[in-house]
Amino acid sequence: ISNDRCWRCDKERGTLIHMFYECDVVHSLWGAVIQCINNALKVKLRENPALCILGILQRKIGLSQQLRLWVKLALATGNRVILRHWKSTEKISFKEWRDELTKIASFEQLIYKINNRLDIFMKVWSPFLEMIGN
Ligand SMILES: [Zn+2]
Repeated sequence: ISNDRCWRCDKERGTLIHMFYECDVVHSLWGAVIQCINNALKVKLRENPALCILGILQRKIGLSQQLRLWVKLALATGNRVILRHWKSTEKISFKEWRDELTKIASFEQLIYKINNRLDIFMKVWSPFLEMIGN
């Protein structure tokens, strides 16, 4: 029997906003992700679907262009982790997001190193890497 209810929580309509953001199964991930970004960059982003799903940042948050791109990458990674568990009813873990982002950091480190621009790598990644204790 087909219906339009979310198969994960079985409570609400399964709209895209619900599936990517509001559903209990994914919502706590966003809280933790935004908190991590805020702590790392000393900013005060507030979680909302436009920010989390679409990566829309207010202009006034006062980050460099590089760090804005990093925030978007961190949020896109959240959506990727959610997609990876699309059919699952288990809560998405913050650890998986953190590990995924750490993996991206090591790839980027390699690329920046090859291009002899580790200074830029550090500018972009050190707030996150220091916070998670790498
Ligand atoms: Zn749901």
